[in-house]
Amino acid sequence: MSAPQLGVLALQGAVAEHVRALRDCGAQVRTVRRPAELAGLDGLVVPGGESTTMARLADPVGLFPAVCAAHEDGMAVFGTCAGLILLAEDVADAAALTGYDRIGGLDVTVRRNGYGSQLDSFSAALPVTGLREPLPAVFIRAPVIERAGVDVEVLAEHRGAPVAVRQGRLLGASFHPELTADRRLHGLFAEIAEAGDRPRAMEPAGA
Ligand code: GLN
Repeated sequence: MSAPQLGVLALQGAVAEHVRALRDCGAQVRTVRRPAELAGLDGLVVPGGESTTMARLADPVGLFPAVCAAHEDGMAVFGTCAGLILLAEDVADAAALTGYDRIGGLDVTVRRNGYGSQLDSFSAALPVTGLREPLPAVFIRAPVIERAGVDVEVLAEHRGAPVAVRQGRLLGASFHPELTADRRLHGLFAEIAEAGDRPRAMEPAGA
């Protein structure tokens, strides 16, 4: 199978680190700033940074509705930290995002900065479903996942709250997997994106 075509939303935040991590997983990677750049992608990473800034920058070009449409068409999406906030169906403290499109689709409620300020940043070794050894995870002004819907699989928890979740072709993490050398979560996303659920008209019958 050929390498998955993956994008990294490049409005603001930890873009270069995600590009590097996905390339390390063998993907073809490009940055995305405009709707047309979503064409043909198997998956898109929405990085950490500042969700309010990204929402304001995405607005003039209608980028987030285009991401939704591409997801409905089969593109996988992985939101990390601020990216998770943008993927969440429900944001408990959404005032600063009011009036701007979000991506949505992931049936969770998040609270921005729920783990505290920049000074409260911390790292943890997380047991993650499907990974044999714990995953090093860096939390920076991270959102707390306060609720996960019935269709959401919790892949990892920290202090009793989910911190890595999956709902079909949506993956979300409260932390920054791109800031460590461990590529296993990016590898999982590349697999989800590559598996696809696009029409397989070209596959031989019975494949
Ligand atoms: N607190 C930030 C926000 O609300 C997210 C922080 C991060 O991505 N490291 O967007």
